[in-house]
Amino acid sequence: MKKSVLSLFVASFISVAVVALVGQSPSAGQAQPAGQPAAAAPQARNPLYAAPPRLAVREIQDDLFQIAFGLDSTCMYVLVTRDKALVVDTQTMTEFEGKKIIDYVKSITDKPLVVVNTHAHRDHIAGNPQFGEAHLSAPAIEEVTAAAARDKTPITYTMKPLKDGDLIDLGDRKIEVIAIPAHSPGSIALLDHKTGYLFTGDEIDPGQVVGMNPEKIQKHHANMKMLYEKHYGKVSMIVPAHNGAPVTKRYIKYFMDLDAKIIAGTAPEVPIADGPNYDRWNTTMTRYREHFASVVYTKPQSK
Ligand SMILES: [Zn+2]
Repeated sequence: MKKSVLSLFVASFISVAVVALVGQSPSAGQAQPAGQPAAAAPQARNPLYAAPPRLAVREIQDDLFQIAFGLDSTCMYVLVTRDKALVVDTQTMTEFEGKKIIDYVKSITDKPLVVVNTHAHRDHIAGNPQFGEAHLSAPAIEEVTAAAARDKTPITYTMKPLKDGDLIDLGDRKIEVIAIPAHSPGSIALLDHKTGYLFTGDEIDPGQVVGMNPEKIQKHHANMKMLYEKHYGKVSMIVPAHNGAPVTKRYIKYFMDLDAKIIAGTAPEVPIADGPNYDRWNTTMTRYREHFASVVYTKPQSK
């Protein structure tokens, strides 16, 4: 821990130093070499500059790829194993720049695909029909079915149920299904027994966990405690569905501890806007943060 803090410090020092070096303009007294055009004036850089997000594929590990539109939107993953590829979630949009979600997956692998949704929120299941079949928990299947009935849209793919403790057999490895419902009643985590990757959907997210309230925080805390007590030793890293790339498994403990403080009424409160782009205008919500964990929470209405 000490070492990583130190290296983080050294790394930030080095990057500050590099920025300082690169950013140096020629000294005022320097003469322009003859016959060369004058250097263009350095372009003012908007501190809030952001390139338009693109649906991009990133190689995270030798066997793990992320497909994400920006980083705070949904991050879906493709785990390429010896025999098959596991697709975890299928994005918010069905296509980007004329390419379907399945085309992005096929640009990574041509192995047979097994699609799993971490939960049924729309930003995780948009591409499902392109794969013909998707595996979800029973509550998530209910949610998709209810939403389709409400919207009067047909479900054009097969939904296969998963339950807590199921093992998805990919050939050279098994993926354990762990029910962790709180943010969504159908949430599951997926633990790759070979590598220790733990896919957590929206239940552990390095930016924030949203949608918490007095009832859900109890569930979230129980889930974090269960992950910590039963699975911590098997996990190598957390693979989250929003706000960036995989992070350390310590986030399980950060959330477990923060949840406990929220329940006890002792959690540190920070402004709602002091976090990823979420409901900045919504003053009815509270943000708690400690260490690297942040929870967006709706307090009970006072009478
Ligand atoms: Zn969600």
